Amino acid sequence: MSDTTSFDLIVVGGGPVGLSCGWQAAARGQRTLVMDRYGFFNERCGTSGAERHWRVQYTQEDLSRLTLEAVPLWRSLESRVERTLIHHIGSLWFGDTEVQTNEGQICETMRVMDRLDLPYEAMTAKEIERRYGFADLPSHYAGFLQPDGGVIDVRGTLAALYGLAQQHGCALHAGERALGIFPDADGVTIHTDRTTYRAAKVVLANGAGVNDLLGPLGASLDIRLYEMALVSLRRQQADIDFPFWFVFQQPTEEDTNLFYGFGRNPWSPSDLVRLGPVFEVNPLPDAESATGTPDPRHVERLSSWVGNHMPGLDPAPVQTSTCLAALPADPERQFYLGLMRDLVPHGEHLVVYSSGWGFKFVPLLGEICVDLALQGRTAHDISRLGPAISMEVEQ
Ligand SMILES: Cc1cc2nc3c(=O)[nH]c(=O)nc-3n(C[C@H](O)[C@H](O)[C@H](O)COP(=O)(O)OP(=O)(O)OC[C@H]3O[C@@H](n4cnc5c(N)ncnc54)[C@H](O)[C@@H]3O)c2cc1C
Repeated sequence: MSDTTSFDLIVVGGGPVGLSCGWQAAARGQRTLVMDRYGFFNERCGTSGAERHWRVQYTQEDLSRLTLEAVPLWRSLESRVERTLIHHIGSLWFGDTEVQTNEGQICETMRVMDRLDLPYEAMTAKEIERRYGFADLPSHYAGFLQPDGGVIDVRGTLAALYGLAQQHGCALHAGERALGIFPDADGVTIHTDRTTYRAAKVVLANGAGVNDLLGPLGASLDIRLYEMALVSLRRQQADIDFPFWFVFQQPTEEDTNLFYGFGRNPWSPSDLVRLGPVFEVNPLPDAESATGTPDPRHVERLSSWVGNHMPGLDPAPVQTSTCLAALPADPERQFYLGLMRDLVPHGEHLVVYSSGWGFKFVPLLGEICVDLALQGRTAHDISRLGPAISMEVEQ
């Protein structure tokens, strides 16, 4: 076997998590390949759009702790590329404080923040209206502003990770698709649409496509795919800006009735702001079924909420697009993250990360996947993130 087709680590999927793995493995001296079927920086999978929510508050304490463990890695990434990637414009959660959503629950999250000594400012509906220009919120709505939260620069992060992976000598193959993985006692053989490789270890960071490779091994993950609408609106009051905001509401018969939005992106001169519904309805049969065009009803529901509650924005959409969300079917589970040991024969050579709201964890996910691939364990507590997947926590 020649050196050109043999690697210490092959990462399938060159989204932010795959690139983070590529950077961190190559920085540890591993001969590493990252391949992506659609090419790097593509907008066809789970990472389309310019921004993501950064937050440290979670209803689950272990996830809050993981965000705090991600902070030094983000700082290190920022200092290496001399660019701010997380902008701390604040994270505002408000609405029905008892409602349980995929994002979490307001009351319980405030208790977690108390336990972890995280700062926040509790706010009534009236205070939220006065400070941020929302209007006609139901009077029982309440919430909090967490000042460390904010917005992550997606394209800046991808460029930073790609550049660092390249600097450390990671091979980056755009437009190459993994077709099959075959673990054995000594490593893994990967067939792609170009060639065949051998690797000591493989990380599957291919998001919604993970079951294309795990399915034939008899180990499909129970994930649901949703094509979620992204909607850009124009601000019509220059003096109002928003932190990141998320409104928690009782579901309707039609959908989950959840909406979120960003303020102006600090790195962009645009006067448009991006909002979205979080409707986990009408799951797609597979990633290839995504159309790139949002469901008009979802855009209409968002516009209508904005028309009723955000007079600072023109509710007529200026731009719309979609993003493919892969989410665990079990709402109690946040991600699939771990070694495939015990799940497929020779799964000790395979690490998987897929699904969930993972952007805020990107540098940490890279570190954890590489730890698991190279050492079979990680110092971070991920014990609850993949109970069906075998993993060890370093003592
Ligand atoms: C609407 C929306 C809003 C979100 N908001 C937030 C947020 O505010 N905060 C947050 O933290 N997270 C958020 N997320 C989640 C976050 O964006 C994702 O977790 C993250 O971007 C996924 O990155 P990834 O690298 O795991 O996957 P992806 O970006 O999906 O990358 C997977 C890559 O694998 C490639 N691939 C697939 N199959 C193969 C194959 N067989 N061979 C080779 N390559 C393959 C694909 O081309 C793709 O580029 C949001 C997601 C959505 C959809």
